[in-house]
Amino acid sequence: MSTDHTHHHLPPQALRAEALESLLLEKGLLDAGAVDSVIIRYTERVGPMNGAKIVARAWCDPAFKQWLLADGSAAIGEFNLEGGQVEKLVVVENTAAIHNVVVCTLCSCYPWAVLGLPPTWYKDPAYRSRIVREPRTVLAEMGLALAPEVHIKVWDSSAELRYMVLPQQPAETLGLPEAELAARISRDAMIGVAL
Ligand code: FE
Repeated sequence: MSTDHTHHHLPPQALRAEALESLLLEKGLLDAGAVDSVIIRYTERVGPMNGAKIVARAWCDPAFKQWLLADGSAAIGEFNLEGGQVEKLVVVENTAAIHNVVVCTLCSCYPWAVLGLPPTWYKDPAYRSRIVREPRTVLAEMGLALAPEVHIKVWDSSAELRYMVLPQQPAETLGLPEAELAARISRDAMIGVAL
């Protein structure tokens, strides 16, 4: 596991951000438009819709899927994603026998370019510790009851290594166009807490 977790999130994070923004604006060191453009970037252009496009492509194109599983960072290159945190992206595939779920036990490392900003529960100390000790129970509490014979693998992200889950394609969606598939793939499915 990595020891280089350089971006720990302090709890009253939003408050600090606002205080800093106000101070920088007051001192004339920051332009309010620059802050808005960052917010727009993370709400409209960087988000789980990017991961969903990648999953849909993998479902439709077996050669792309093999590449994605072998070298996630290289395979997503053609999508021209912004947002970062995917310099070393590992994509793990769900199968009938194996279910993958992602956590960052130390803080909240997350592949921003493909999934956007992490959900609040992902940063919650309870999720971070319990998903490792009792993944089946935590997943069931989150609404995902897995059959007892399904093996659960928990992947611990770090500053260097980020994970994304490639969900299984539901049989009833076989043959649908890529864009329609992408619209059905949720952020939670790519973290591994939903199907
Ligand atoms: Fe982290």
